[in-house]
Amino acid sequence: MAVLRKDRNTVIGILGGGQLARMSAMQAIQLGFDVAILEKEKKSPAGILTKKEFIGWVDQKKIFDEFIEASDIITLENEFIDYKYLEYIENKGKKVIPDSKTISLIQDKFIQKTTFQNSGIPVPKFLNVNETTTYEFIKSELGSKFVLKSKKMGYDGYGNATVKNKSEFTEALQRLSERHTEIYAEKFVPFVKELAIMVVRTKKEIKTYPIVETIQKNHICHTVIAPARVNEKIIRSVNEIAVEAVRSINGFGIFGIEFFLLEDDSVLVNEIAPRPHNTGHYTIEACTISQFENHIRAVLDLPLGNTELVQPYAVMINLLGKRNGVGVVQNYSEALKSNNVHLHIYGKAESRIGRKMGHITIIGSDLNKILLQAKKIEKQIII
Ligand code: ADP
Repeated sequence: MAVLRKDRNTVIGILGGGQLARMSAMQAIQLGFDVAILEKEKKSPAGILTKKEFIGWVDQKKIFDEFIEASDIITLENEFIDYKYLEYIENKGKKVIPDSKTISLIQDKFIQKTTFQNSGIPVPKFLNVNETTTYEFIKSELGSKFVLKSKKMGYDGYGNATVKNKSEFTEALQRLSERHTEIYAEKFVPFVKELAIMVVRTKKEIKTYPIVETIQKNHICHTVIAPARVNEKIIRSVNEIAVEAVRSINGFGIFGIEFFLLEDDSVLVNEIAPRPHNTGHYTIEACTISQFENHIRAVLDLPLGNTELVQPYAVMINLLGKRNGVGVVQNYSEALKSNNVHLHIYGKAESRIGRKMGHITIIGSDLNKILLQAKKIEKQIII
């Protein structure tokens, strides 16, 4: 049966109920679709938007089966679900976008980097690390500064450790091995900027969003500036490489691709995310059609919307928890005092220091002005 129902609302199942699922679901609902959410706990940011809220996870067969049964097509909000569970869905005759094969090439970062390298996509030099790999060997291959990364389940820098000497190596390897069984090493890249781009693809179309600059604090994306202040040559190569990266994994749906920009204007791919991405949140107000809406369109293989900026500049700043407590903004009137700020709060029950609780976006024609304004507002909001 065709995925798009004519007898009732099409139901898009989303594996996960966090903020990415929430913002995707809001767009799905706007287009007249329903969503089903599978999440471990009740009242997740996306779960509260639908009556089709399934509490459990992919390893709980009964609830997983019920979720699959309730969905016409399924997508995901993170790459950590073992691709075998996606194969299970596919074996039941339901589509997953992006599919199990694409996810199998992404969820292990070592396989991801190897796949890219084999397709001629530039990545930092890397090598496998096992029990017999010595510090001296890694140093001779990658230089004296390198990054140890867990192959799976790393996010917001958890699972990464920068190493500059042997004692740091021993300490980092032990710390990472406690939680992550498989590790690889990557050359430390002395980047001048970090860039990112969203790519959305259906069977008929492939579109890119503007390239953005991303500024991390403690390995977490903090500020996004759109468009990135880079020259034409860099714009061209990032676009080409990003499209090639998505093709190399046979990806459909939306993808966020992170890059390192080097001093000589060359770029290296850091990683790809097979889903809406934090660096694309600005598109909700700053682009004609947002990453979330285009993601939903791509999942259903519908025509894609225009990805261009509607104003010359946009700034997005993440709102991280500033305290431990209820996840509600404590000073709404102050937070909304600026009449051009777009405030997004994710509806998480609990705030914790450093947890992603929401974001703000400001669009305009004077970058310095909106950047200063966004920074000021971010300082004021208490959540
Ligand atoms: P995660 O998947 O946990 O977000 P990443 O591998 O993207 O982790 O790394 C998070 C951040 O750490 C990057 O945005 C970058 O600032 C820094 N980083 C990661 N790899 C390297 C590297 N090889 N060289 C220099 N900095 C790096």
